[in-house]
Amino acid sequence: MPKVAIVGSGVAGSLIAWKLAVAGFQVLLLEAGPAVSRGRAASNFSEFEDPARTYPSTPDQPRWGDEHVFYDQQGPENFAAVYEKLVGGTTWHWLGTSLRFLANDFQLRSHYGVGRDWPITLSQLDPFYAEAERELGVAGAAMPALQATYLDQQIGAAAATVGYRVEVLNAARNSVPYAGRPACRGSATCLPICPIGAKYDASVHVSKAVAAGVELWSSTQVQRLLIKEGRVVGLEAIREGVSQTVDADLFIVAANAIETPRLLLYSGLPNPHTGRFLMGMAGQVSQALAPKPVWPFRSPQVVSGITQFRDGAFRRRRAAFTISIGNDGWPSGAPPRVAADLIDQGLRGKALSQALRDHVSRQVLLVSNCEELPRPENRICLSNKLDSHGIPRPRVHYKVGQYTKDSIDECVLIHARIFQALGANHIHHFEESADPAHLAGTCRMGPAADSVVDSDLRSHDWPNLYVVGSSVFAGVGSAPPTLTIAALALRCAYNLAKTRSS
Ligand SMILES: Cc1cc2nc3c(=O)[nH]c(=O)nc-3n(C[C@H](O)[C@H](O)[C@H](O)COP(=O)(O)OP(=O)(O)OC[C@H]3O[C@@H](n4cnc5c(N)ncnc54)[C@H](O)[C@@H]3O)c2cc1C
Ligand code: SF4
Repeated sequence: MPKVAIVGSGVAGSLIAWKLAVAGFQVLLLEAGPAVSRGRAASNFSEFEDPARTYPSTPDQPRWGDEHVFYDQQGPENFAAVYEKLVGGTTWHWLGTSLRFLANDFQLRSHYGVGRDWPITLSQLDPFYAEAERELGVAGAAMPALQATYLDQQIGAAAATVGYRVEVLNAARNSVPYAGRPACRGSATCLPICPIGAKYDASVHVSKAVAAGVELWSSTQVQRLLIKEGRVVGLEAIREGVSQTVDADLFIVAANAIETPRLLLYSGLPNPHTGRFLMGMAGQVSQALAPKPVWPFRSPQVVSGITQFRDGAFRRRRAAFTISIGNDGWPSGAPPRVAADLIDQGLRGKALSQALRDHVSRQVLLVSNCEELPRPENRICLSNKLDSHGIPRPRVHYKVGQYTKDSIDECVLIHARIFQALGANHIHHFEESADPAHLAGTCRMGPAADSVVDSDLRSHDWPNLYVVGSSVFAGVGSAPPTLTIAALALRCAYNLAKTRSS
């Protein structure tokens, strides 16, 4: 029975672990973080109301608002992407929006003369997208779509008058009971925690993997891969403080687009492209007050959005983007903060309560996520600053390109037009920022001349090493990454299982 060691138990690692175990492989899944108790995490969030204090954390990860502590930021811009180190990985904390990439996202250079073509096409990934949608439980694909909220409908009506079409976005969130998990109840805390498991997280596939025979080592930080004669022969790990060496026939690194290159670089991967072509997703966040109550905070944080800018001839000049409608009020206007401002203005008692309701019920938010192009100078390398295990921390070089900045300017105009059509006031457009949710690139797939893995996600350098996750992306398009991560992991598992049975 071939022995496989998989590093990382997020959606990428847990899906492939489960699939390979079912196909007859002997699988060890190594995860740096601890297991999560949903009840404990939900009560942490309700006690502290701080996404950063919801889950147990390790000292060796970026934290919200503290990205410079773990990352060795080299600029010129701050890279603010965060991730979790947990059994189940970052999907515990994700929002759940689950869009497929478009055909042209895979062939950006052929169609628009910019960026890079992937070595695979949408049609090759289609069957695995469908499987991923069933496995994650995507409303709008594997089950009925979610319902647009009242707020979405009001923004949709206003947006239609200026030529924009609002639609419900597919999401890995149950609209009906599905796969033993309940339907969404609209508690609006998806990010950072769904208290009832209506939103998918990868603990679902960790459980399936363990039930299929996978051995799970939690709280186990893999330090480095051991190389002999051009192959990976083992790995070194610290499991609950104790050093361990593990051997296997096949090694799969599914540790996300920061930790995967860090591990490969520290293990001595000779490929000069490792760590390069880091992509985030630059965001434009804009807030306003609607003229009448639109009632945010009564649904998932995002249900609907605008997708008509995901493709078009404009991509020759500037980036594609998706606009999401926030049902979670203002980033700068959580109800306690609004109350504090109103108190400062001298309001008390009934007048305070009335003003607070009036303000909070009218908060609207638009968030655009813009594509970034793969640029070699945006990269992860090893810092001379060390983590708590004495391993180099990731040094990050990052700059948002002009191609993306031009679309951010366009997003500001579109957001402003929609707010104006709604009759909104108190409009504020935040400074652009790298969306802290998305990260990709760093071990991209493609030809050996300028990539780290081939179209089957196998390393060009060490033939028994595979990489799964968004680090293999050759481009990011305008869809959030996770459905594509899942589809690629399922495709990789399918190909490996086929090799074993042939
Ligand atoms: C706030 C937020 C909102 C998001 N919203 C969306 C969304 O709406 N839609 C979407 O598509 N995506 C979204 N994302 C992104 C999504 O969460 C990620 O794309 C996805 O979770 C990545 O899965 P992964 O398995 O590749 O990596 P991860 O989930 O990061 O898992 C990697 C795992 O590897 C482990 N690991 C790392 N290094 C080591 C090591 N050396 N040894 C052992 N284990 C290791 C880590 O502990 C971690 O558990 C969001 C992310 C955030 C933070
Ligand atoms: S709105 Fe509440 S119940 Fe629905 S997915 Fe989000 S957290 Fe879960």
